[in-house]
Amino acid sequence: MFEALSGKLNGVFDRLRRRGALGENDVAEALREVRIALLEADVALPVVKDLVAKVRERAVGQEVLRAVAPAQQVVKIVHDCLVEALGGSVDAEGEPKAAPGLDLNAPAPVPILMVGLQGSGKTTTSGKIALRLREKQKKKVLLASLDVHRPAAQLQLETLARQTGVTSLPIVPGQTPLEIAARAMETARRELYDVVVLDTAGRLAIDEALMAEVAEVKRFANPHETLLVVDAMTGQDAVVTARAFQEKVGVTGIVMTRIDGDARGGAALSMRSVTGAPIKLLGAGEKLDALEDFHPDRIAGRILGMGDIVSLVERAAETIDREDAEKLAAKMAKGQFDLDDYAKQLKQIGKMGSLSGILGMLPGVGKLKAQIEDANLDNTILKRHTAIIASMTPKERRSPDIIKASRKRRIAAGSGATVQEVNRLLKQFDDMSAMMKRMTKLGQKGLMRGGLG
Ligand code: GDP
Repeated sequence: MFEALSGKLNGVFDRLRRRGALGENDVAEALREVRIALLEADVALPVVKDLVAKVRERAVGQEVLRAVAPAQQVVKIVHDCLVEALGGSVDAEGEPKAAPGLDLNAPAPVPILMVGLQGSGKTTTSGKIALRLREKQKKKVLLASLDVHRPAAQLQLETLARQTGVTSLPIVPGQTPLEIAARAMETARRELYDVVVLDTAGRLAIDEALMAEVAEVKRFANPHETLLVVDAMTGQDAVVTARAFQEKVGVTGIVMTRIDGDARGGAALSMRSVTGAPIKLLGAGEKLDALEDFHPDRIAGRILGMGDIVSLVERAAETIDREDAEKLAAKMAKGQFDLDDYAKQLKQIGKMGSLSGILGMLPGVGKLKAQIEDANLDNTILKRHTAIIASMTPKERRSPDIIKASRKRRIAAGSGATVQEVNRLLKQFDDMSAMMKRMTKLGQKGLMRGGLG
């Protein structure tokens, strides 16, 4: 469901990325576009305003204008703000903190209360949670339906329990929701269950009677988690529902279902700011194993549709010195790029990590990455080339043209390489220099200026 939002924001950032250096006006323009993209993706206006204001504040504070790749930095700031809006956070090192999963940290049996409108996927999600707890965490789970208004709902949960291999509380007609809840907890204590999932009744729309019933059950059962299930396809209505449940009942987490549908995704961004409760799980299909953890950082990445470009920018910012890069660009422009510069570049690439690792972080370069791995061009080449250049005299590095047969033999022997390898390096360097000259002639800004975009 995040594709639509992703597509819109991608358009904004593509335009942003194509520019090397940003002025303040560019940032302002980009923010205007971000704002429109978010509104079109069904993010609530107050949330949009908040987000854009945060991005602007940080963009100014961080001296975006002088940064390595300014456009990339704006992207990164938007990404971080999205993570926060989605309820995630980053620690001091900029690493995303783990998303809060279900909290079962309480004496067994731990009661989990499921609330939400009818048709939101509440009963299905109860089954999915039971299956996951049983399979992944080896928990003994008891399912109980408190829906006394629709007998079919109790039968549905019974069927789900059978499919997932967990137990459901035997149906006793005529009991009130409180009586069923009491029986479930008693059974669970007596038979040593770890978790009890209480599936409450839903209505087609929010009404006072429903809220009162759910609130009463909650007071009685004192659940450790109260999970609100909302249908992502209902967009802003899901947000309205969430606010109502938060006010009247109080929830500890949200499960968004039908994210496999083509919802615009904006509702997810509003949930945290409107309810204060984190999204804990996502329902991604009708099948019982279609339950996903919610990772704010990954979702933010998906929204921006940019692979792991964020960590790439971080590493680049750490390792590439803007001034060095500019000096290099100036040298290239004058055709003075020499083997010392080439060695420096190799060192920077080496510092950033493996080539294929770097490529893997860029969106849309999967094929290229496979080719590089095939050709085994990875770090070994970096190391070989660095060693070969280290065996040259300073004069040779500045004027590679003087390197003829006897010098090649000496360099090869000194670096443990073959003469062919030395030849290959020199050929590659020639090609590179030629390309740079061509690029400079074309009036482009040189390799380094384009940044990483
Ligand atoms: P309840 O009334 O809230 O208990 O809703 P149900 O659990 O009965 O779900 C209503 C319908 O939505 C059922 O047909 C489910 O199979 C379907 N459903 C539930 N969760 C998802 C989901 O994540 N994706 C999709 N595509 N369908 C879902």
